[in-house]
Amino acid sequence: MQIRNPAFFEAPSFWKSDWGEVNAYLDGVKAGQVWEIGRSHGGLPIRAVAYGPKEPIERRGNPFSAEAFGHPEDFFDPRKRTRPVVVLISTVHGVEIEGCVACLNFAHLMESGADLRGRRWEALHELAAGMRVVLVPLAQPDGRVRSAVRHLRGGSLADLSYYGQGVPKPDAGGDLPEGWHYRYSPVPVDRMEYQGGYTNDGGINIDLDDFFSAHMAPETRALMDLVRDETPDGFLVMHSHNPGPWIASPNALVPERCQYHQVQLGALVAARHRRDDLRPAWRAKAGLDRSGYFGTINLPTALHHVSGALPLAFEFPHGLAPNPYTFDEILDIGLTLFEEILRYIQTWGRQRGR
Ligand SMILES: [Zn+2]
Repeated sequence: MQIRNPAFFEAPSFWKSDWGEVNAYLDGVKAGQVWEIGRSHGGLPIRAVAYGPKEPIERRGNPFSAEAFGHPEDFFDPRKRTRPVVVLISTVHGVEIEGCVACLNFAHLMESGADLRGRRWEALHELAAGMRVVLVPLAQPDGRVRSAVRHLRGGSLADLSYYGQGVPKPDAGGDLPEGWHYRYSPVPVDRMEYQGGYTNDGGINIDLDDFFSAHMAPETRALMDLVRDETPDGFLVMHSHNPGPWIASPNALVPERCQYHQVQLGALVAARHRRDDLRPAWRAKAGLDRSGYFGTINLPTALHHVSGALPLAFEFPHGLAPNPYTFDEILDIGLTLFEEILRYIQTWGRQRGR
């Protein structure tokens, strides 16, 4: 791996994004419950931390049999649960660590009453205290360890591409099509000079895994099992990109009710970020995108189908040049995002009617 800019490896102490420092923080958690939900392809632990008690779910069917016979309560009966449940998942792609920082600061708020900068988020804290919130700060450890940078603030698209999707060996391309080194699944890791953080050690991008196959990546399996087991009201998968903060467009392959919620919550989060001068990206569309990424089964869609939960995906800004977001702004984007999502789920979650 190249050190393209030494500044990428340094960050303020509240910016917990490094593999070692995130795990050290989780080792010290007291109010939350920490456990291992699975292991990566490379054998690293994938850890979750939960705040709020877990209520038992009595199953008499799977999500599909229950729906098909008109009795969704055979899989999950929201009337029997008293607290809304939300699952927050970050760093599916190893270099996209902004959501992990937000998760750790949220954990610290629940542990101590303030984030790691000492800021109290009273509305968020109060909302979370009445719910069960499960965090998976580093869902894909292999790529996190491999990409190693703490952030990419002030960097270029070339830096993002290097630490994200990596670079093939100089003679590996031949007559292969453009983008083969991150588009193929699995990525042929033996032909990469540097693999980047996008994929696990087996070369799998878990956001677009082979979801119905026995060869599903262990990270994907762990997330599917967690979300099915929790059957949350909603869950969020956090990524990062170059533009401003943005709740992803609706997925074509989830029920319409979920698509309406995705649009509404996207507007609420953008309005909050605009109000707080956090410069949301303007990518809303009037119509539903039925092609490409939003027209296929990606990780949020797959997690919806094993749980029935409202699927949400979010893109943080990396803060690349020429308009870098500050560390503080990126963290504020995350904590205001969590507050808006928790409030929405508390208001419109499954137990309040579909
Ligand atoms: Zn991503």
